[in-house]
Formats: sequence, structure tokens, C-alpha cells
Amino acid sequence: NSILKIEDLHVAVEETPILRGVNLEIRQGEIHALMGPNGSGKSTLAYALAGHPKYTITSGKIEIDGTDIVELDPCERARLGLFLAFQYPVVIPGVKVADFIRHAVTNVRNPDRKEGETLMPMREFRKEIKERMTELGMETGFARRYLNEGFSGGEKKRMEILQLAMLQPKFAVLDETDSGLDSDAVKVVSEGVNRLAGPGMGVLIITHHERLLEYNIPQYTHVMLGGKIVETGGADLARELHSDGYKSVRERHPQEA
Ligand code: ADP
Ligand code: MG
Ligand code: MG
Repeated sequence: NSILKIEDLHVAVEETPILRGVNLEIRQGEIHALMGPNGSGKSTLAYALAGHPKYTITSGKIEIDGTDIVELDPCERARLGLFLAFQYPVVIPGVKVADFIRHAVTNVRNPDRKEGETLMPMREFRKEIKERMTELGMETGFARRYLNEGFSGGEKKRMEILQLAMLQPKFAVLDETDSGLDSDAVKVVSEGVNRLAGPGMGVLIITHHERLLEYNIPQYTHVMLGGKIVETGGADLARELHSDGYKSVRERHPQEA
């Protein structure tokens, strides 16, 4: 079983320290929820995992099975089995959903391939994407849509979930902003993750959304406060935070609050 290990991670944005010693271990097959008040650093952790250039790792480690990935670019991280939806460009004019996923899949599966070399054969790819879409209950016409062009919230999430199904990463990090998730988007993410999560995939889902947490009951819930994970518990901790908020967590951790 693979393991994603984050050790004493410190991250700064434009010289400002944001994460101040994050420790977290996720094994393949586990679902972890990351919660915490707005501004506590949850998205910063997701960006740092993705290798976003704006987020500087000032100290600490991120390892996949003992390989430190801090110096690797987002593409190399993906090859090691890490998936982050926003690792990929938001809008690429003239590129269809299927083209984009075909490139991503080729890149992840053939690490030695050079830019411009042959993509995964079309016939094979079409068969595979069609199977995945059928399993996910998606209309196959979606693959012919132009990427993100006029996508609804739900369609953006369909794109994410379809990528997840095709790439089958060892670790998926999903930063689901709670505001702006319409009911279609919530349905796509909760059912999609539920269908795809399994022994081969470790999931870190950043959300407070009740439905997402209910569909994908986390084995572990982590609470971030002031750039640190201050508490870890089970699914009951997620429920408690959802109904009671962060007042008592802040009281228990006055230094981070
Ligand atoms: P959360 O996702 O928990 O709401 P964030 O990781 O978005 O928290 O933000 C944590 C802190 O880092 C906030 O104070 C925020 O203002 C700051 N921050 C995050 N990203 C940036 C950025 N790109 N530029 C400047 N400040 C940032
Ligand atoms: Mg926020
Ligand atoms: Mg955020």
C-alpha cells in the first residue's frame, strides 16, 4: 500500500508564512476530510501538494512512498500517482474534454514519452473513456464538449470526476469550496468520489459539505487552524464541527486560534 506523507510542512506565500508545521499521513484506500475555518490554510495545503509556483515550501517534506516530491513539477507528481483537479489548466481554447484527458492519461501512463510523441491510440482511448462514462452515468457527448467553455458548476465537476476515473491516481486531493457548489455539482462530486474511492485510492477531501461527508464517510477528520492540523478524529468529529462550528476547537487551541 502506498503512503502520502506530509512532515512538518511549512509553506509561505510571498514571504508570508501560512502553513506552520503540517503533519499528515494518507494511505491508499483511506478517506480523510480536512476541515477548518476560512483562512486557516486548507487550500494552501492543496496548492502546495500540487506544486503551485506561488506556494513556497520553506521547510518540511512531502513524500510518496519515501520519495520526496517537493522538487518535482506538477507533471512528475501526477506520474507518481497524485491527482489534484486544479493541477490542470482552467481554460484551453479549442481543446475538447476527450483531447485533454487523452493527453493527461498518456502523460501519466508513459512517463518516458517526450512532448509531441504518440498519444495513447484513439480506438483504445475511446473505448476506455466510454466505459468510464457509462459507469459514472455520464452522457458520452460530454467528451466532445470544449473544455470549460460555458461549463456549469456541475459540468466542471464532471470533468474532474472523469479525469479521476481515467487517471486512477493513488491519491486524490479535492478542494471543494462549500460556497458556489450548486446541487448538481454536489451530486456529481459526492456520487463520483463514492464510486471511485476504493482500496487503490487515498482521498483527501477539503469540505464542510454535509452531503459530501455523508456520501463519503471519512475514516479520519482533520481540523486546520492557523496553518496547523490541531486535531484529528473520526467521522464523528466532522459531524460535530458541521453542527457546532469551531468555537470549542479554538478554545482548545488558543495559540493557533
Ligand atoms: P482556507 O482554504 O482554509 O480558507 P487559504 O489556504 O485559502 O485558507 O488561506 C490561508 C491564508 O493564506 C489566508 O490568510 C490567505 O489570505 C493567505 N493566502 C492564501 N493564498 C494566498 C495567495 N495566493 N496570495 C496571498 N495570500 C494568500
Ligand atoms: Mg477560504
Ligand atoms: Mg480554501
